[in-house]
Parts: sequence; C-alpha cells; structure tokens
Amino acid sequence: MTSTIYFHGGAGAVTGSNFLLDTGEAKFLVDCGLTQGRHSAEAQNWEAFPYDVASVPFLFVTHAHIDHIGRIPKLVKDGFKGRIISTEATRALAEPLLLDSMELLAHDARKHEREPLYNEHDIEHTMRLWEGVPYHKKIELPGGVSAEFLDAGHILGSAMVRLSRGGKSVVFTGDLGGGNSPLLAPHEPLPHPDYLVMESVYGNRVRPEDKNRREELENVVEEAVARGGTLLIPAFSTERTQDLLFEIRNLMVERRVPQVPVYLDSPLATKITAAYLANPGYFAEAFRERVKGGENIFAFPELKFVEDAEESKHVAGKPGPKIIIAGSGMSSGGRVHAHEKVLLPDPRSTLLIVGYQAAGSLGRRLLEGDKNILMQGQRVQVKAKVEAIYGYSAHMDGEQLLEFVNQGRDALKQVFVVMGEPASASFLVQRIRDYLSVKATAPLAGEQAEIDL
Ligand SMILES: [Zn+2]
Repeated sequence: MTSTIYFHGGAGAVTGSNFLLDTGEAKFLVDCGLTQGRHSAEAQNWEAFPYDVASVPFLFVTHAHIDHIGRIPKLVKDGFKGRIISTEATRALAEPLLLDSMELLAHDARKHEREPLYNEHDIEHTMRLWEGVPYHKKIELPGGVSAEFLDAGHILGSAMVRLSRGGKSVVFTGDLGGGNSPLLAPHEPLPHPDYLVMESVYGNRVRPEDKNRREELENVVEEAVARGGTLLIPAFSTERTQDLLFEIRNLMVERRVPQVPVYLDSPLATKITAAYLANPGYFAEAFRERVKGGENIFAFPELKFVEDAEESKHVAGKPGPKIIIAGSGMSSGGRVHAHEKVLLPDPRSTLLIVGYQAAGSLGRRLLEGDKNILMQGQRVQVKAKVEAIYGYSAHMDGEQLLEFVNQGRDALKQVFVVMGEPASASFLVQRIRDYLSVKATAPLAGEQAEIDL
C-alpha cells in the first residue's frame, strides 16, 4: 500500500514542526509547532494551514516544546475536531507552556497589528481534545494503522511516534536527547522502521566534551560565592531549569558548595517543575519510585520561588552571595532582563550561560564578550564575569544522530532529514548515504514523498 508524507513545517528549518501522513483512508498529523526565527514568532504562523484542518482526525505530539505544539490552539480554532494524542507528561507540560506562549504571541500581535493567534478559550478547547497515553501503549487507529510512543530522552515525556500498517512502519523522531540529563532515561533505540523522519538540529556539529559538567558547575558556584556577588543563570523553563535545580541541590546537600540562597524567579519554570513532579513515571528509573513516594528532588532549604513581579524587582538588590535562575534562556526577554540591568555592571557578579544562544540574541552578544550592550534603550556596561558551560544540550550531536540511525537501519528504505538548518540537514543526509548506504533526503517545506506503508 502507498501512503504520502507531507512536510508542511520543520522542513528546511529547525522550528515549526508539522508533518502529515495520509494513508488514503485516514490522515495523521505529527506536531503542530510555532515557527521561530529572528523573532519569537514569525508572520507565517498567522497564515492558514495548507490542508483541510477539519478533515484530519488525529494529531500526535512528540513533546511539549513550543516549536512542536505552539500552533495547536490555532489548529483547533481553525476547525480541528479530532483527537490530540501525546504522552501524559507532554500533555501536562503543554498547558502552562501554551498559556505562556499565548502572552508572548499577544504582545507580538499588538506590535505588528495582527489578531492574537489564539486565546485562552482556544487553549481550553485544545486541552479537552488532548489525551495522554504512556510509552509503549499500542493505539489502534482506522485503516489498520497503529501508533506507539517511544522515549526520545529529550525533555520529560518526549517521544518518537511510530505509525505502523501491514507490518511496515514509519518513525517520526521529534527531538532526540543526547543523554545529558541527570533526570531522564536515555532515548530508546530506533525500532528498525521502514521509514524515518528525523531531526538534525546538530547534524553537522560535534558537541565539546561535557563529562565534567558537574565539576564545572561546582567551580563556577564556588568562585561566584567567594567574590561575594550574585550568580545569575538565564535558563529555559523546561528541562534546563530542573537539571540545574537538581544539580545545585546535590552540591548544597553534599556541602560541596556554600549554602547560599537560590532564587527561582520564573513562574513558568515553577509550574513546569510541579508538572515534572506530577509525572514520576517519566523520570529515569532511579528517580521514579522516589518521586512517586512524594520526595521533591528539586527542593532544598536554600531554594526560594519568586512568584509575583513586585517581589522579583527586589531580588537582584538583595545582598550577596546568592544565585538567581530566571528566564528567558537567551536573555531575550522575561525577568532575567531586569536582573541583568542591575547585576551586569557589578564586577562581583557572574553570568552563567548554560544553553544555546541564537545569533542576534542578547545572550549571544554577552557570550561573545560584548562589554557595552543596549537593553531596551538603556546602555549597560558589562563588568560581570561571563562563564559558559556547554554540557547541558538536550539534543544529540552529529555523531550520535548517525549512530542512532546505524543501530536501527536493518529495514530502512529511506530517511527524511528534517528539523535542522539546511547546512546541518544536508550534512547529515550525506553522512547517512556515505557511511550507512541508506537512501536519505532533506525535504523542504511544501514537499511530499510517497512511501510503501
Ligand atoms: Zn525540543
């Protein structure tokens, strides 16, 4: 039998993941994410979907990052009435992330005089259509198709989705974790599919050695505390913040660093952390029973959650030494901005960068050593020490991606390399062809491919 995959988004680009599988008898969407480029939301997110939304009965969601879920409420607003299916943890993370994204999108919309992309009512409606299922549960679908989620090891609840029919299968990887998180189980091996639609964010990069990540964090905390100032860590709300809380907690409990106050100044990260604790089955095995038994693996006496905006204004000015974790992860907005204005001119401060910083972002300029920056019209002299730890990436690097395909390639007829910049995707395509002798292509948005499924 023949099915068609349509590459509607996340093809030729990292963000905006949106794929459609048409088996002739039914249509299945995989992900419906926001396209993010130089702006947090590109204009194309407001365009109509290039397919009849109401005719699609199923949407599978690989994980809760906004470039995979950010347009789902618009899909629902535009007439989708089907089932939205993901792991339970993805469903739990999606609601706070969509509500947060709604605020950012509304701000963007006002700036560009557009209608809001969706409202709270659309999110409510979305959540009513959304069901959570555990990993490995076989979901029977029309036309002899079945679906199953496999652990992708990227963020809590992240999954590859395998769609099978008549003994053949296609796997959509979503994003694949590089095995760095202390909290998550490693990704599952590729289950020998016939076709593979895979991510390639770091397809052409090999990550620097990161085995010493915890020691590096210990050194940065010790040194920052010794200087008597504030250690400010801009961090993404999902996964990065929980990794950091867990590691800082261990350092303090084991008395490897001085016990100074730690402020988590991000209401979103606080909600996400609670959603993590509410889904113990999705942690690495070592934590499942502990979290299920009620242990809060993120809590320690020095940790304070900053909730309201008024309280946030006073945190940076509190006497040091102290640690502040705040969003956004690339210093492109959020509460971290206000802290940076106060703390960057102070030579006792340390700014610690733990995530990817996009070109053009404030975080990238700080990382590159810019000492004179413009923040919302205000000149800020950077006298703080700027440090970076690279070992926190939540993605596989180029070597890992190739090895991942290699391990599960027995039945592979074709690999579609997506969710990467063109240079990254085409580099991985070439390596899959050359090293594994498997047919590989990098489709662009709007293209389609027939598969034997
Ligand atoms: Zn992701």
